Amino acid sequence: MTNAMLAFHPDLTASQALALLTRGELSAVELTQSYLERIAEHDATVGAFLHVAAEAALATAADIDSRRRAGQSVGQLAGLPVAVKDVLCDSRTRTTCASRMLENFQPPYDSTVVAKLRAADAVLIGRTNMDEFAMGGSTENSAFQITRNPWNLQCIPGGSSGGAAACVAAGMAPLSIGTDTGGSIRQPAGLCGVVGLKPTYGRVSRFGLVAFASSLDQVGPLAHNTSDAALLLETIAGHDPQDATSLDTPVPPYTHTIDQPLTGLRLGIVREHFAEGLHPEVEAAVRGALEVYRSLGATIKEISLPHSKYAVATYYVIAPSEASSNLARYDGVHYGHRADESSLLAELATERKQLAAAGDQEGLDNQDTGLVRMYRRSRAEGFGPEVKRRIMLGAYALSAGYYDAYYLKALKVRRLIRQDFDAAFAEVDLIAGPVTAQPAWGLGEMAGDPLSMYLVDLYTVSANLAGIPGLSLPCGFTQDGLPIGLQLQAPALGEETLLRGARMYEQATSS
Ligand code: GLN
Repeated sequence: MTNAMLAFHPDLTASQALALLTRGELSAVELTQSYLERIAEHDATVGAFLHVAAEAALATAADIDSRRRAGQSVGQLAGLPVAVKDVLCDSRTRTTCASRMLENFQPPYDSTVVAKLRAADAVLIGRTNMDEFAMGGSTENSAFQITRNPWNLQCIPGGSSGGAAACVAAGMAPLSIGTDTGGSIRQPAGLCGVVGLKPTYGRVSRFGLVAFASSLDQVGPLAHNTSDAALLLETIAGHDPQDATSLDTPVPPYTHTIDQPLTGLRLGIVREHFAEGLHPEVEAAVRGALEVYRSLGATIKEISLPHSKYAVATYYVIAPSEASSNLARYDGVHYGHRADESSLLAELATERKQLAAAGDQEGLDNQDTGLVRMYRRSRAEGFGPEVKRRIMLGAYALSAGYYDAYYLKALKVRRLIRQDFDAAFAEVDLIAGPVTAQPAWGLGEMAGDPLSMYLVDLYTVSANLAGIPGLSLPCGFTQDGLPIGLQLQAPALGEETLLRGARMYEQATSS
């Protein structure tokens, strides 16, 4: 394959398309059709979608058009296609989490985010690829396919919401939904040159989101620009009694305030973020963005997050611990793939014969019963290597002998990381810095090296540990034409400031 580039600059943003739809100058069917055509043309190459719901999307679009023509009221996103990461339950389509374990899982109900999208009359166009159970940073951990970066097809799109970022970057959907447990919205957004926002923990309901690490998971929007991200966030945010961690706080009108520049903006840059290992072109682009802010009247202040050097280690104890507990439900009985029973029985009989022939009485006594063998085989077959690694890491960190040394200690460091942010936000309104230390890397380049993959999360995991919102927006390109992301972070529930701050930069730099 050539180094072709499929990144796409839309003629219309989602907000502009919505204005045309509202005025009747564009129909939802026409708009949906144009995205479906783009998918048909390019997704065989990009691999962003696990499932394209062409028929259902066109039927929804036709219904919206006829309601609109009849003068009936329609929802906030009426007629806009939205792609959803394959980790949010949708009762009308399978939800696989890109795992063999859930290959045939058909949820009996809609997640709140999917329900809100439907209520807003969004056109659910398809389900996007991801790292299995959202564990990974390159989308190479999907059990089904890889996804390519539309800016360079030899590169990874980032992850775990790689399909969500790539489908927007390649113009195959104007808006998409991702999830972010340790950077999985912001990192692929940064590597694919789109906008991605991880909301405050509790801002968006997680009801019906297949859980990875419940104290960190958040759902959020990916889009071409900040206004479109604001529109999607406004639709999905809000209190949900079905999610006990959901915040009962009104959702500000993000789309109404986003164009108000922040006066006297105090921007913090983290001393520890500009250290060894930061790619020079990423550093130059981020420093360039800071100059733009300075020219817009912002003051730039150096701050310190002294415990940030422990963030990756802390995250990779807490996230796998929670994952090992959350993923216990996939045992072939409660949920998920079950190993074929006749082959299990045959295996058991063969093994028994061998043990008997060897006179191994202890082996015979300890042989797995059918049930235990079934659990073990089901999980061995259903989960991929990274998910197994996380379950083992987590089970170890939570085990009686190591709980205090690992899990409890990680919780204490998490608190210190949170306190660092509290102290920083007493002095600045937003924190700016890189999303990742390097641009998108080559497919397969890091796939066999979990530790390097974990280290990529250096700048993103802290926001999840602290529960604060973070946003990634494009701030330039490398000489090789790969996008570079700028990360902005705000105090809890500071999405409005975050979006306004991001919009200032976007407006100042868009030609
Ligand atoms: N790369 C991180 C991990 O593998 C982030 C995952 C996420 O945010 N879902 O855990």
